[in-house]
Amino acid sequence: MPFPSDTAPDTEVFDLIDREVERQCTGLQLIASENFTSPAVMRAVGSALTNKYAEGYPGKRYYGGNAIVDDIESIAIERVKALFGADHANVQPHSGANANMCAYQAVLDAGDTVLGLSLDHGGHLTHGSPVNASGKLYHFVAYKVTPGDERVDMDQVRDLALEHRPKLIVAGTTSYPRRLEPEAFKAIADEVGALFMFDAAHIAGLIAGGAHPNPVPYADIVTFTTHKTLRGPRGGCILSTAQHAAAIDKAVFPGWQGGPLEHVIAGKAVAFHEAAQPSFRDYAQQIVRNASALADALVQRGFRLVSGGTDIHLMVVDLRPFDADLTGKEAQTVLDVAGITLNKNSIPDDPRSPFVTSGVRIGTPSVTTQGMKEPEMVRIAELISRALRHRTDAAELAAVKADVASLCAAFPAY
Ligand SMILES: *Cc1c(COP(=O)(O)O)cnc(C)c1O
Repeated sequence: MPFPSDTAPDTEVFDLIDREVERQCTGLQLIASENFTSPAVMRAVGSALTNKYAEGYPGKRYYGGNAIVDDIESIAIERVKALFGADHANVQPHSGANANMCAYQAVLDAGDTVLGLSLDHGGHLTHGSPVNASGKLYHFVAYKVTPGDERVDMDQVRDLALEHRPKLIVAGTTSYPRRLEPEAFKAIADEVGALFMFDAAHIAGLIAGGAHPNPVPYADIVTFTTHKTLRGPRGGCILSTAQHAAAIDKAVFPGWQGGPLEHVIAGKAVAFHEAAQPSFRDYAQQIVRNASALADALVQRGFRLVSGGTDIHLMVVDLRPFDADLTGKEAQTVLDVAGITLNKNSIPDDPRSPFVTSGVRIGTPSVTTQGMKEPEMVRIAELISRALRHRTDAAELAAVKADVASLCAAFPAY
């Protein structure tokens, strides 16, 4: 069967999709949680698999006609288990947030105590924020970064664990530029009799590529998104020890979700295969080298980096030493005009509100996929500081935007 082609394209929507492809390809994509998937991943996600209902798991579906889908989901499961060395995998979570809620449901009862990194110090909403279901269903206690070095202090994590006796300790970050060492968390979890979950949403690709320690040997459960550094389709995944396998599967379906997105699961299978190739190891190492190079170049231009730098694919930039009046919100808006896409971000103990902030978060996964290396990171730092220095000068911002477009044209995303 040939790939279906549409006879009456919906120009209203497809013209907008064309414009979005143009935006992605002519600007610098520096949002730390984004990436460019391969065309093969997009083809799987855009496939006829979207038509199939497959509630249940391979070999145990509620509806008929699932023999092929069973094969696809089984391949995804086997590939991701091999990639991370896990006993069990569930590839059905629709997103990282869903993966976390399912993992909690598998091992916690409502009201149980959990330790997680504070949202405003780099954690995620699903690590107990009061506006998120995690914070309403469970009793989260937050650990924070230390004011001096802006790093998570494992002595503080241990003290809180001894004081609150959590049933689960969660490690994992969204806007924290340093590694959290899985082994150190595991030791504390063992000492207080807690389970240990590592949320690897951001760094799954770094782990797969050998650029970050693998938490799987230490954690009871590892959750992650497939669309960030792992460079797959938008979605989530849960790995666990054999002990938690049945509870995890029950929590995903029928606990939280209905029919799985088998087209996305096919895209995940393709991405897991891509991440197992030697070239992906080079990619993961280059992401980290690029982040270091960009961090150094920004410091040279008068920015301060939270914790002084980065170990991973992202950095959080404190804008105040560069310009005391410049907020994260304004920086995001100005850079958008110049074709540079990133997000405002609170810095630890930010005096400004989360809607304004004093910082921005910058990540290198997308530009590294485009093939950019250290020299381009220096150019990016220069473009960012030029745009922010001339932020009220429309002509200069247009000139930066043209320079951004010519840099991107030399490193096409597709
Ligand atoms: C991105 C992220 C998530 C949520 O992923 P979604 O797919 O957006 O739901 C969960 N945890 C962490 C640490 C993340 O960075």
